[in-house]
Amino acid sequence: MILRAQYVVPVDQPPIRHGAVRIHRDRITAVDHADAVQPPAGDPVIDFGLAAIIPGLVNAHTHLELSALAGRVPPGPDFVRWINTLIDVRRRNCSDANAIADAVRGGVRASLAAGVTTIGDITARPDVVRPVLKHGPIRVVSFGEVIAVGAGRGILQDRLHAAMDGQHASEHLTIAVSPHAPYSVEPDGIRACADAAAENDLRLCMHLAETRDEVQFVETGGGPFRAFLTDLGLWDDTVPCPRVHPVVLADACAALTPRTLLAHVNYVDDAHIELLAARGASVAYCPRTHAAFGHDPHRFVDMLLAGVNVCIGTDSLASAPSLSPLDELRFLCAGHGDGHSPHPRPAADVLFAMATVRGARALGLADETGSLAVGKSADFTIIPLTADGPRHPLDNILASNVGPIETYVRGKRVHGPRL
Ligand SMILES: [Zn+2]
Repeated sequence: MILRAQYVVPVDQPPIRHGAVRIHRDRITAVDHADAVQPPAGDPVIDFGLAAIIPGLVNAHTHLELSALAGRVPPGPDFVRWINTLIDVRRRNCSDANAIADAVRGGVRASLAAGVTTIGDITARPDVVRPVLKHGPIRVVSFGEVIAVGAGRGILQDRLHAAMDGQHASEHLTIAVSPHAPYSVEPDGIRACADAAAENDLRLCMHLAETRDEVQFVETGGGPFRAFLTDLGLWDDTVPCPRVHPVVLADACAALTPRTLLAHVNYVDDAHIELLAARGASVAYCPRTHAAFGHDPHRFVDMLLAGVNVCIGTDSLASAPSLSPLDELRFLCAGHGDGHSPHPRPAADVLFAMATVRGARALGLADETGSLAVGKSADFTIIPLTADGPRHPLDNILASNVGPIETYVRGKRVHGPRL
């Protein structure tokens, strides 16, 4: 099959005007000017006209199981209050397996409609979520979440075992591990997760340096997170206090490696950014969630300049209005995410790389997806261009508010008319 459009945008190569992509079964077999890509006899040709074929988007950080919570836990400047409310609402509304499975299915549909073909998904219920995802069509790296702190530290091995359970691994689903955050997993637990991931060559994801409160808790043992753990009945005086910044803690626990994806990383200085770059860890920046909590400006441009692999996540629908990385990029371009940044906004191809190739790299899938290249999986989405918008196709997409018309994963159409 051959797909043509006014532009084909591989993302890691310049846009091709009047381009075409040829696919055979689940693979891309040609990406070139339309004239240079001839169909084998009888092969169908679809021409999308005034549109761009771009790689399937990568949402590097979300929690599909929270997809039913849209609008029910409004984010605000008090993160600890938000997470308390989240725990409460989740307990009352999303604790049974059917509700969780429905939320995941809804999140997958919304993702495919948003042009997403690969997801980094965090789940506290891998036993429920992975059976829903293992048959595809979306590609998922499923991070089983580990929480074990204070009076609850005894569940560490059970949670780690559940996270690492490979029974639902498939061509669509990759098993991975997530020690949740430095306030919910003690250093020994973070190290146990990191060691287990290293031994089994699994990806690791952790929420890190997300709030000032977290930094305070890790550095001093006090502040709102201590009160949070006390209220949950988890705090006791045996909870260790690392007395270092969360990034330094993660490194001390052997959790900063090229297999590591860190969510948020909102509060770091230059030395921390250099350490992340030296260790080869990736960072998932979630612009709308970041803005909704009123954090200081995110240093993603400094991170990119330092050589850190920064990618885009939406986080869950509990804190973001959609599961669309494209909406995140458009939000950034509207000037919402970097109002106080000393840097100009990165060029469109840099932004799209964060939502495609860089996300794929962060999830260990760079050889398989994330750009339009011969040999990669035929994962792409088609976005209409506007006749009166900017000439560069990616600038044109960012300046409009039009969503994808079709999405393909492994050469199969998974979103579009009549689907
Ligand atoms: Zn998250």
